[in-house]
Formats: sequence, C-alpha cells, structure tokens
Amino acid sequence: MTGSASGARVVPTIAELRERLAERRAAGASVALVPTMGALHAGHLALVSHARELADVVVVSIFVNPLQFGPSEDLDRYPRTLEADVEALDGLGVEFVFAPTVAEMYPNGPVGTMLTAGRVGALYEGASRPGHFDGMLTVVGKLLNIVRPDVAVFGQKDAQQVFLVRRMVDDLDVATSIEVVPTVRETDGLALSSRNRFLDPEHRAAALTLSEALRAADAAAPDGLAEVLAEGAAAFGDHDDVTLDYLVVVDPETFLPVADDARGQAVVLVAARVGATRLIDNAAITLG
Ligand code: AMP
Repeated sequence: MTGSASGARVVPTIAELRERLAERRAAGASVALVPTMGALHAGHLALVSHARELADVVVVSIFVNPLQFGPSEDLDRYPRTLEADVEALDGLGVEFVFAPTVAEMYPNGPVGTMLTAGRVGALYEGASRPGHFDGMLTVVGKLLNIVRPDVAVFGQKDAQQVFLVRRMVDDLDVATSIEVVPTVRETDGLALSSRNRFLDPEHRAAALTLSEALRAADAAAPDGLAEVLAEGAAAFGDHDDVTLDYLVVVDPETFLPVADDARGQAVVLVAARVGATRLIDNAAITLG
C-alpha cells in the first residue's frame, strides 16, 4: 500500500521511516507522532487533528504491542483493521502511517531491555494488568527513538498512561514535548474506545455506568473525598453485567491517592468489566 495525494503512506519498516523522515527534516519540517494500536475512532482522529496543528509532518503509528498485554488478556482478539484505519486518516494531513510487524519491532524475540514504570506503574491499571505499563513505556520509548518527533500526542482517556509517559520523557531527557487531548465521548457520555466494538447493545447501555459514576463523583466533589467515593461506587450498584475494578481519586501531580481531607484539583479514575470487556475512564474534579 502506498500513499495517494491526500492519503498517508503506509511504512512497514523502521529503516524506511527513518529515511523518509530524514528527507523531510532536511527540508526543515517538524514532526509529530500519534502512537496508537489502530482500530481508529474519532478519539484517535482528534489526536491526529491536534498533531497536524503542531507540526508539519504527522506520523501515526499503528502497532498492537504484545509487550503490554498480559497472558490472559485480549491480545489475540484486539481488533486489527489497518485498511479501514488508513481510510479513516484520509484527508487529515497524515503523511506516514508507521505499521510495523511484531518481528520488525522485536527482531530478537522477547526484549532484554525494558523500561519500568516504577511505583505509579504498579497502581490502578498496573495493579489489574501487571507489566502493562512497563510494556507500554518500552514501546513508546522505542517509537520516540524511531521517529524522534518534536511532539507526541496522547489522549487524556488514558490518564495514567499520560502521567507515566510524561514522567519517562522527563526522567530520560527525551527531546519530545508531550501534548494531551481531552477525551472524546459519544453524545451519551461513553468514552470512545477501540474495545467498545465488543459491546452488544445491552452491554453498550451498561457501559454508561462508567461515565455516570464520573458525573456522580463530580457532583459530590464539593462535599469531599468520602462523598465522591461513595457516590461514584453507588453508580455501579444495580448492574449485574458490570463489575467495578477500581474507582480512585488521585492527585494529578503525583498520581497517588489524595488524602481524606484533600481539596482542589483531583482526577477520578475508574475501571470496570462490562461483560467480558474491560473499560476505563477518568474525569477531573475539584474537591471542596
Ligand atoms: P490506543 O489505540 O487505545 O492505544 O490509543 C491511542 C491513543 O489514543 C492514546 O493516546 C489514547 O489515550 C488515545 N485515545 C483513545 N481513546 C480516546 C478518546 N476517547 N479520546 C481521546 N483520546 C483517546
């Protein structure tokens, strides 16, 4: 597959991508990277539009990274829709879609060197998905080394991921600035996710519990943490098909749980299983 006038060029190898980016850089172009696992939806496209505003050349990477999936997770059933993804990007000003194989990214098999997400990487998503953030950071680190973008764009939908990527870039002196785009939602509040396609109509309705819990948490925020946690959890009360994994309130600066008497800016993180599908969401609140 190659690019058309308005479409992106699909680049499967690191060597070719580096070569093409070197040409563009030599002509003075700045570069933005949007890392994704594909199955693109309007949330991803919002990241792309933002990237286009920030740099001359936009690279969208599409790679389902085995390193960030646990042995019992949905790596095999994760949707892979490259052709539709390239079509969805048409007309958005994306120059390159970097779509490597697993062998291209990990030619030596299991990687010997990995990044570690540290203490915060073991909490919340990391507690439910051991090793997930080490795998995520390792692939993001590789992508940043491959593309060497001026800017990389991520979604607030994955708030803990954003925190850890910012931390990694800071800790390792990576010369890329990290930009974050607000969560794109369906009109009824459900955060867009590649995994939403697994929801049958009943589970699609039940999935609204997550955003409802966040709304309830926000409404309770002036009354303090205990109320936020109680009202948020109460939203999960009467759904047989929905199992709450965690609902926590964290300090945006440290990503550690806030103190009982905390006031001011905080982030509510929620994760739940809806049928067989695990969903996450989050919202900023102001504790009173
Ligand atoms: P993924 O393909 O799920 O790994 O996501 C790729 C990027 O898209 C990540 O930075 C996500 O945070 C972002 N993203 C996913 N869903 C949304 C959404 N609903 N709104 C905004 N960004 C999103």
